[in-house]
Amino acid sequence: MIILRKEPLVSDSAVRPLRVAIIGAGPAGVYAADILTKAEREFEVSIDLLDAYPAPYGLIRYGVAPDHPRIKGIVNALHKVLDRGDIRFLGNVTYGRDLTLHDIRDMYDAVIFATGAIKDARMDIPGIDLEGSFGAADFVSWYDGQPDVPRTWPLEAKQIAVLGNGNVALDVARVLSKHAEDLLVTEIPENVFECLKDSPVTDVHIFGRRGPAQVKFTPLELRELSHSRDVDIVLYPEDFEFDEASDALIKSNNQVKTMVNTLTNWIVEEQDTGASRRLHLHFLHNPIEVTGEDGKVTGIKFERQELDGTGNVKGTGEFIDYPVQAVYRAIGYLGSELAELEFDEKRGVIPNEGGRVLDAAGAHVPGLYATGWIKRGPVGLIGHTKGDALETIGNLLEDRLSLPVASNPDEDAIIELLESRGVEYTTWDGWKKLDAHEISLGAAATPTPTSNGPVDRARIKVVEREEMVRISRG
Ligand code: NAP
Repeated sequence: MIILRKEPLVSDSAVRPLRVAIIGAGPAGVYAADILTKAEREFEVSIDLLDAYPAPYGLIRYGVAPDHPRIKGIVNALHKVLDRGDIRFLGNVTYGRDLTLHDIRDMYDAVIFATGAIKDARMDIPGIDLEGSFGAADFVSWYDGQPDVPRTWPLEAKQIAVLGNGNVALDVARVLSKHAEDLLVTEIPENVFECLKDSPVTDVHIFGRRGPAQVKFTPLELRELSHSRDVDIVLYPEDFEFDEASDALIKSNNQVKTMVNTLTNWIVEEQDTGASRRLHLHFLHNPIEVTGEDGKVTGIKFERQELDGTGNVKGTGEFIDYPVQAVYRAIGYLGSELAELEFDEKRGVIPNEGGRVLDAAGAHVPGLYATGWIKRGPVGLIGHTKGDALETIGNLLEDRLSLPVASNPDEDAIIELLESRGVEYTTWDGWKKLDAHEISLGAAATPTPTSNGPVDRARIKVVEREEMVRISRG
């Protein structure tokens, strides 16, 4: 039963800690837990961090490209937070399936949703559902060994189109164009290496619908493209158009200036080294149709764009076809609806005001909060979710005296409920076992012979959910 507190029960804090559940153990959830733990307050908190995956770290484990060790390194900071012992991790627990909203509200005074965004944004152009047309988010989940996706990926295309000019487009294009053996030093799962190794790809084309000054990449990620062995970068001088708004942006924004400089230098420097694979960067191409034969992708049609003076584009009426056998749309992520909560389908977020979850009438549902991408949409770097968490936690603390009081706040209540339902939850100690196991698999693997000499594996990820659970609970 949920009791809505009518007047402040100040004595509660002396009796027991505030019970808070955070749904989602990715960076957004861990930052929220950390900020709440360290916040200046005159009462104790007791936090459970729940995740649908058996392992923690969300987007870092299942969204960051394997060859981005710098970003994967954020795990070290998150590990430190969870290893302190004052936040309890419970993995392999799915909100809406293993636990209802009612169950959670019964056991916690406040709930913070930090479930992120793992689906691809929709793209409505003819042919987008043909065989060989993929969502980038699905491909990322596959190459990062997310437990719920198939283990194989059809890599039969020689020519591939990647749509979008954001960092996800760069990740996907880089992984598709790299030689698989150059990914062996990373934590890529075995099945991913085996599939990528046999890819016949020769040309990956990244298409942006606006100009070089309007890209959403970041400079480091762009420059990194030129570091892939035996992959040439190809640019097209006719795509280098800058309108008044572009010039103003280049002058006022160092990041844009750096990226435009990088791109223009690449044209001047002439990147053709005769590599066996090429990565093409095209701008001012608006996708209008994926074309096919016998249900399979055979090409893609674009309308050429021109800048309209404001940094936006308009069609020129000129159409261009490219023969490709696969299309990856990397045009943004989308959050998924959560059981028993309102949902903004268009933006893929839980409707909220400063992280306070709203009902259909736009009123705050007492005790419910959101943070990270499910709060504000899939934009921004991982560190930006710290700002989200600060705001959400600030509001939660401000609301503290009007939070509904959990009727079953005992810390053992959730464990008893999960056990009574046969949910094989995992714990922080369990994650440490799985972590050590993955590292030991890497160490035990015979160094793989490659053209760069034998390569040692840092870690080999376990990808099957049952195996992850077995090792964690073993
Ligand atoms: P994003 O940065 O929002 O980029 C989406 C891209 O898709 C934009 O270029 C956008 O063009 C384009 N687009 C949208 N709708 C389109 C359409 N209908 N047709 C053609 N193009 C379309 O999204 P993201 O790449 O998914 O990245 C999400 C966030 O994660 C970003 O903040 C990103 O920086 C971050 N991230 C960072 C890294 C890293 O390594 N640091 C890696 C991955 C992701 P317009 O600009 O014209 O709308």
